[in-house]
Amino acid sequence: MLEWLIAGGGIHGCTIAAHLLKQKNTSQNQLKIIDPNPEPLAEWKNRTGFIGMPYLRSPGVHHLDVKPFSLKQYGKSYGTETDFYGTYRRPSLYLFNEHCDSLIKKTNLKEVWHEGMLSLIEKMDGYWKVQTKSGDQFYTKNLVISTGVNQKLFLPEWGHTAKKLAANRVSHVFDKQPVKPEGPIIVIGGGISAAHLTIKLARQFPGQVTQLSRHPYRIHDFDSDPGWLGPKYMNGFSKLSLNEKRNTISKARNKGSIPRDLNNKLHHLKEKGRYSFAIGEVETVQYKADAFHIKLGTGQKMTAKTIYFATGFSPEVMNTDFLSDLIKKENLQCAHCGFPIVNQHLEWCDHLFVSGPLAELELGPSSRNIIGAMKAAERITSASC
Ligand SMILES: Cc1cc2nc3c(=O)[nH]c(=O)nc-3n(C[C@H](O)[C@H](O)[C@H](O)COP(=O)(O)OP(=O)(O)OC[C@H]3O[C@@H](n4cnc5c(N)ncnc54)[C@H](O)[C@@H]3O)c2cc1C
Repeated sequence: MLEWLIAGGGIHGCTIAAHLLKQKNTSQNQLKIIDPNPEPLAEWKNRTGFIGMPYLRSPGVHHLDVKPFSLKQYGKSYGTETDFYGTYRRPSLYLFNEHCDSLIKKTNLKEVWHEGMLSLIEKMDGYWKVQTKSGDQFYTKNLVISTGVNQKLFLPEWGHTAKKLAANRVSHVFDKQPVKPEGPIIVIGGGISAAHLTIKLARQFPGQVTQLSRHPYRIHDFDSDPGWLGPKYMNGFSKLSLNEKRNTISKARNKGSIPRDLNNKLHHLKEKGRYSFAIGEVETVQYKADAFHIKLGTGQKMTAKTIYFATGFSPEVMNTDFLSDLIKKENLQCAHCGFPIVNQHLEWCDHLFVSGPLAELELGPSSRNIIGAMKAAERITSASC
């Protein structure tokens, strides 16, 4: 039997695994990570790689390792001048990923990796039985659910229609294998992923790219105010009712926003005619003569050979079979919004821990981010000391 099993080997699962090993809460042969990908962080690397994100949005003290300055020190030894950007010293994606890989190597996370999709969790007599879709079974004392947003990508209604019309010309930007771009191209969305992809494509296909958003650019340096990372806002948050917490989280997240430097880059590219920006809702989409023909509510028409949806994730994170089944069987406590009610160690019930979206009623608006993974790892490791 294992001491620890972690479902999900993304940023969160790997951070928790690395902390458990480095803090000596467990050892290699007592730990497993189950994830459908062949190696750690595959989805993070795919998503950030495809949109061409050069720098992270978060500062250099947000990473997967235990010591706060680990990434900065790694940068000093192996990085270059340009590996940290701007006032907040945001790390380059390249350096961040190299640092992750070095941590994965040091903690031997590939050795504890099991490729599979968790599909069933059963409470036994003082331990958990976990089963994957392909029937592999594991027994563990402690279980951590770090499955992120559970691979649920969001498409607007007309996006599903576009996919039916020409599936090989439409992608969500976080699809495992997005379609190859062919101009003219439309990027749907007004947030940071849409912005990065628009910049990348405007350079590759100058004059052939349109970004279509529901709103003008919203400028915020971070996903949420840095006050949410510490006592400034979190002291008040911890005293709120669960409903108030949910409302506060929704208001605190700067959804669909971009940092100022990206706004400046976009402005220059737009001035040079490399791409155009439109605001509106799609009214109709048709596919004729190898191209999509789109009409907006404003009457504006556009044509595209490729459409990319940078429309984020579905809010239905909890609507996942293994979670619904577990909640029912174990009578697990959920708030009105459907998300887990957990204790300060992020424990949903004895020896069952969560992170990411599932921990946000305890960790607040930054729970899904990299700093949320660091906080989750701290709370979970302190539970098992
Ligand atoms: C493009 C992009 C840029 C971002 N930039 C930043 C940034 O600069 N700073 C910041 O702090 N945050 C950033 N974020 C937000 C956040 O840090 C990431 O989304 C982070 O990857 C979330 O990690 P995760 O482990 O919760 O989820 P994921 O990375 O989605 O990993 C979850 C893993 O669980 C697996 N899984 C799902 N279901 C199961 C199952 N049933 N069984 C087993 N495994 C399962 C998935 O396959 C996946 O591998 C960014 C996000 C994106 C998309």
